[in-house]
Amino acid sequence: MALVTLKTILDDAYRRGYALGAFNIIDLTFLEAIITAARSKASPVILNIAEVHFPYVTPEHVVPVVRMMAADSPFDIALNLDHGLTMTAIERALACGFTSVMFDGSNLEFEENIRQSREVVRMCRAKNVSVEAELGAVGGAEGGELVGSANPAKYTDVGQARRFVRETGVDALAVAIGNSHGRYKGEPRLDFERLRAIREVTNIPLVLHGGSGISAGDFRKAISLGIAKINFYTGMSDAAIESVRKSIGDIGSRYNDYPEMINAVRRSVSEVVAGQMEIFGSAGKA
Ligand SMILES: [Zn+2]
Repeated sequence: MALVTLKTILDDAYRRGYALGAFNIIDLTFLEAIITAARSKASPVILNIAEVHFPYVTPEHVVPVVRMMAADSPFDIALNLDHGLTMTAIERALACGFTSVMFDGSNLEFEENIRQSREVVRMCRAKNVSVEAELGAVGGAEGGELVGSANPAKYTDVGQARRFVRETGVDALAVAIGNSHGRYKGEPRLDFERLRAIREVTNIPLVLHGGSGISAGDFRKAISLGIAKINFYTGMSDAAIESVRKSIGDIGSRYNDYPEMINAVRRSVSEVVAGQMEIFGSAGKA
């Protein structure tokens, strides 16, 4: 199978009532961990590469590897630029073969977010690439503080969501309903009524950023109210660090200690991803 667009993969999820995890690649270890999990769970998957991670993973180098893996896989894979903040990054993603772009104009004033998101849709449509945009501001900062919390004043406004989707033509919309990037300060409390109302006026697949730390029950409820893509990174990063911590004590005496440590990281990240695929309902949907 080849890489598919975000729209292709999300429309199926939205229709059948499950969500896809969008898992971040920061190196080949994470990429292999995610693909191994998808294979073991027979799950379609979205691979995210965030602009803030470009210093760690060069898109031009990793995209050919992703393509080879996709060609070889029995399940659908979409490759998404996560939090494209600059036109330079978006152009780079388009040039090297991403099938989706998330444009993050959430810090812009509403009309300007519409204008720039519409421009990104125009650029991407020409190349059959899907677009996700964000309205309202998800708590915390992508690539910022590890602990984040949501600000109710920045939750997605229902009336604005209706206009935004109609005027930009985006394929998916990231919403702010109490979710936050990084680790949550306290228990996350999602505004499900707002989510229900946003779904009613937009009727496109909705996206939940800040998936690490939300309970399985809340995920299921959010999915039943239109969430079809869930961004998940901090839980993978935490699993990797925990795995390194466990190995580091007795490392250095054997020839293969370092690659063994990396293999252990891959296994623990893969387990976390596989567990999320079960919760999101994408397992068995390939
Ligand atoms: Zn995000």
